[in-house]
Amino acid sequence: MEYNRCGNSGLLLPQISLGLWHNFGSVDSFENGENIVKEAFDKGITHFDLANNYGPVPGSAETNFGKILKNNFQGNLRDEILITTKAGYTMWKGPYGDWGSRKYLLSSLNQSLKRMNIDYVDVFYSHRFDPETPLEETMMALDYAVRSGKALYAGISNYNAEQTKKAAEILKRLGTPCLIHQAKYSMLVREPEAGLLDVLEEKGVGCIAFSPLAQGLLTDKYLKGIPENSRASNPNGHLQAEEISDAKVQKIIALNEIAQQRSQSLAQMALAWLLKDKRITSVLIGASSVGQLNNNIGSLQNLHFSTAELENIERILG
Ligand code: NDP
Repeated sequence: MEYNRCGNSGLLLPQISLGLWHNFGSVDSFENGENIVKEAFDKGITHFDLANNYGPVPGSAETNFGKILKNNFQGNLRDEILITTKAGYTMWKGPYGDWGSRKYLLSSLNQSLKRMNIDYVDVFYSHRFDPETPLEETMMALDYAVRSGKALYAGISNYNAEQTKKAAEILKRLGTPCLIHQAKYSMLVREPEAGLLDVLEEKGVGCIAFSPLAQGLLTDKYLKGIPENSRASNPNGHLQAEEISDAKVQKIIALNEIAQQRSQSLAQMALAWLLKDKRITSVLIGASSVGQLNNNIGSLQNLHFSTAELENIERILG
């Protein structure tokens, strides 16, 4: 594993990070999740990403991760890993369990620390921009989380380029620089290229790309329909069958051929394609098995693309 500097900060992130959005909830096999985390750490993945609402049920991924920590990461091992969490989407009933108020963010952070049974998280994120709350209030809550020692760094997620610029400027003024932006980015989702990546570079903020495999679409899994045990067939999965259109599958088949010519799996090529851009600090994958995790780590064997390959990929995606 190699480690990339996160924006202008002192923090290094592994090229591949592991997210616990799916596969770590109370509905999932604890043993499978624990094995994935252990294997990830053994392969140099030092960064584990959570959010208050990951499950299902919401909160259970953090509870399970707390158990995994207790079983496997005692003592100084906590200092060898980065744990991140977020608040911003619906978490509890009433007016204080959603969006971007100081009340919600700081109460939620306390709950997350309790669930994971840890003293601090490495990065605390505002999970989404709140159009109803002054941005200053949300950023002051992140700044306070850091100053109170409950988080080491502040991050934002799902903010557009303009919102990101303002957020980074406020955080800088407050004295807690924005470390990182967590953005949805993959071969199939290209929005960050339309301004966000430029803002991040200008402001010295790192970028971690979430759902880099488009929730599994950018693998060889859906080439011949929707298999059992896939996210699209899982009632708790966020990938909807309707998102797997014939037109998309044709693109995936063509991309898979390029991957084969590169002696890579499509998943490996999709991750390498993101990591070729030096503005991408890390790709934030999910995995439902140790095998998938290792397949994805194999992407690091070949991050180089020829101009012809890149042009071919663009033509297919076009
Ligand atoms: P991916 O795009 O990497 O999708 C992961 C899924 O793809 C796996 O669970 C598995 O699904 C399938 N898969 C992975 N590797 C392979 C492989 N080699 N071969 C075949 N299938 C494979 O990422 P996620 O959508 O899971 O998101 C990753 C993380 O990003 C989350 O855990 C979370 O931390 C973060 N995130 C952040 C968001 C935000 O708003 N900030 C929103 C969403 C995610 P299957 O079950 O089909 O096997």
